[in-house]
Amino acid sequence: MPAISRRTLLAGSGAAALAVHSDPAAATAAPIGKQAPGIYRYKIGTLELTALYDGIWYRPITDKFIRNAPFAEVESALAQAFMPADKLTTPFTTLIVNTGKKLILIDTGTGGQITASAGVLRDNLIAAGIHPKAVDLIVISHFHPDHINGIKDKDNGLLFPNAEIAVPAPEWNFWMDDANLRAAPADLKLTFLNQRRIFLDIARNVRRFNPGTEVAAGVLSLDAPGHTPGHTVFAVHSGDQSLIVLGDTAQHPAVFARHPDWQAAFDIDGDAAVATRKRLFDRAAADRMLVTGYHFPFPACGHLIKTATGYEHVPVEWQPKL
Ligand SMILES: [Zn+2]
Repeated sequence: MPAISRRTLLAGSGAAALAVHSDPAAATAAPIGKQAPGIYRYKIGTLELTALYDGIWYRPITDKFIRNAPFAEVESALAQAFMPADKLTTPFTTLIVNTGKKLILIDTGTGGQITASAGVLRDNLIAAGIHPKAVDLIVISHFHPDHINGIKDKDNGLLFPNAEIAVPAPEWNFWMDDANLRAAPADLKLTFLNQRRIFLDIARNVRRFNPGTEVAAGVLSLDAPGHTPGHTVFAVHSGDQSLIVLGDTAQHPAVFARHPDWQAAFDIDGDAAVATRKRLFDRAAADRMLVTGYHFPFPACGHLIKTATGYEHVPVEWQPKL
């Protein structure tokens, strides 16, 4: 096969560009200048699921980001994944489950309160044909701000005013304990205070469930501690089909599926986070289960393959029909 050099490639595309410019119709189209809605719809048995994109955060990191790996290895992994060297690429995708009886939202996005490049969940929800008032139930995986801030706007107004809110009891018990707040380092105190902003004035209406129970028909909660003490994942199931909603079992798979032993600074219990990740990923890989991860690239669902050193994420193919 003849080698294609950068020069011949550019010469080739230059010729193609000339051909396009010679077509007068192409010159009249103004650029649209904005992104298309971030919506992906799929089915698990009779349940209709809608993945909703909330945006992306290029989260600054330091050489302390991974507790148990030299930073040079982390930089190399980021480079291999075409990511910036000093930031963790962090997309956000929430999930609507329509059971036929209830519209359930699993995790709520950033509420536009974390970074200017996220907070488009509401726009995408409406583009998907779902009004925020129609959401019946919000289910939360854990209490980090990128998962709960979308419950409220920045002025504390409820963004889904008719939704019941269900949270893992172990997560509530850890974060809402004032002794844990007092004992926390300064930066983590901000997380505790944000949780009080979101939950304290609506506490009466927040249902606390124990992992292992069905939070709604077709949505089974499963204990998955480590990232946070009460971090919970969900098995959405109908007939003989299921989907594991992994939450933050791993953040971006190009980093944490490929390096499942890595303990991030934001994991409260790094050893437990790694054990949970391997347990769930081994199961998903062995059983060839469909999974979705909150920080996986949109539409965030796909499969996991076990490799010699970790796991590889294989995204779903876009389906034009359900
Ligand atoms: Zn998260």
